[in-house]
Amino acid sequence: MPTRKTRHPYEPVPDDGRLTLGDHRRYPGSVVLLTCAMCGWAKPYSPERLLDRLRELKAGGHPTPVGALARRVAWPCPMCQRVRWRMELARPRGLDPREARRLAGLYRN
Ligand SMILES: [Zn+2]
Repeated sequence: MPTRKTRHPYEPVPDDGRLTLGDHRRYPGSVVLLTCAMCGWAKPYSPERLLDRLRELKAGGHPTPVGALARRVAWPCPMCQRVRWRMELARPRGLDPREARRLAGLYRN
C-alpha cells in the first residue's frame, strides 16, 4: 500500500473488492470516502444517504460493491481537475471501543 496524505479523520476499511454498501453497518461510524486517485483529495459521504439516493435512482442498494460506485462520479476533482476516483468504506481513526459499541447499538435498534 502506498502511503498518502490524509486530511480527514478516517482510515479505509480493507477491501478485497467485495465490500458492499451494506457492510457499513459492520463498521460503526463509518463513511463512504470518495478519494481522488491522483492527488488524494477526499470527501466523506454518509452511507445511509448514499443508499437512499441509489434506491431513488434504482441504481443499487446494500449489495452494491463500494468500489464500483467510483465509476458513477463524473465531475472533476476540485483540487487537480482530473476525473479518477476511488470509493472506499472508511471508519473513524482511533475510535475508542466504548464509542464503537455505543454506535453499534444504534444500528441494532
Ligand atoms: Zn485530485
